[in-house]
Amino acid sequence: MRPSPIISLICPLYNEEDSLIPFFSRLIPVLRQLGEPCEIICIDDGSQDQTLNQLLQIQIQQEEMLTLVVHELTRNFGKEAALTAGLDMARGEAVIPIDVDLQDPPELIAEMVTLWRRGYDVVLARREDRSSDSWLKRNTAQWFYWMYNKIADIPLPENAGDFRLMDRRVVEAIKLMPERQRFMKGLFVWVGFRSTSIYYVRGTRSAGSSKFNGWRLWNFALEGITSHSTAPLRIWSYFGASIAALSFIYGNFIILRTLIYGVDLPGYASLLTVILFLGGIQLIGLGVLGEYLGRTYMETKQRPVYLLRKTYYHSLNQSDNKSDMSHELGQHGPASERN
Ligand code: UDP
Ligand code: MG
Repeated sequence: MRPSPIISLICPLYNEEDSLIPFFSRLIPVLRQLGEPCEIICIDDGSQDQTLNQLLQIQIQQEEMLTLVVHELTRNFGKEAALTAGLDMARGEAVIPIDVDLQDPPELIAEMVTLWRRGYDVVLARREDRSSDSWLKRNTAQWFYWMYNKIADIPLPENAGDFRLMDRRVVEAIKLMPERQRFMKGLFVWVGFRSTSIYYVRGTRSAGSSKFNGWRLWNFALEGITSHSTAPLRIWSYFGASIAALSFIYGNFIILRTLIYGVDLPGYASLLTVILFLGGIQLIGLGVLGEYLGRTYMETKQRPVYLLRKTYYHSLNQSDNKSDMSHELGQHGPASERN
């Protein structure tokens, strides 16, 4: 009987065929040194390249302490959905989401586990600076955090990604949140718990390219803000009230001026400016309303966040030298049920 895992790593993967070998060759020695039973949960998020095939070929040396489980999603659902799937599947007492491009250094895991053992529920890995990012990404990220932290219920810790250790209690709390639009960083902090941080310098990708281009990042930012704040909706009442008050004062001024000085016809330019400006403002307001309405619509459909196609796991039978990785999963359910 293999020991149940203490540490679960969640690795979301989307077209990462070139990153896999460097990742595992750096991760596995770190996990071995931990001396704790670990499971590596790979979520193949609908990769179109050889990621899945390569994953299934990875031969981890037969060990009691290490399990590799691969869950294949039916298509690309996005990193947030892949992380959600990982949290559902993880069985460990501590759970660590980690990117496979080595931008999250596996060597930090030992320190995270030490702090967790000292009683922290969450150990955040925070990057010391953003020097490895482009000027544009650095500035837009800073702007996003500033904006988010001004209006969201619970502020996000700056320069922290998804790489963090979470105690089982934290994971169970996150699983209580049923929303379909999942901005995981926001959900991670929303649950609270005792947390501490460690700092590291984030390098560039080991191989391949970032899956988040400008448009995807913009939508991700919108998702984050609309999921965790209704301020963009409420601001329009104040804006409307201010414009109404100003219009009232200006209207009185025009009436008085007309009564005193008579009719003054010219005014085409100012009239057109005001009409166009207010028309634009109203459309922006409608757009914001639409953002929320659309999201409410998506939530009400109650579709699943992800769909699982198949689960593969190394049987890790001590006497068996080959990995048996072809166990179909007929229904959604944690790998534990099948081990
Ligand atoms: N990822 C994923 N699904 C996606 C996009 C990304 O599972 O739709 C994974 C990706 O394989 C990687 C992690 O999420 O392991 C972080 O992606 P990436 O490195 O491209 O993001 P960045 O570091 O540039 O923010
Ligand atoms: Mg990356």
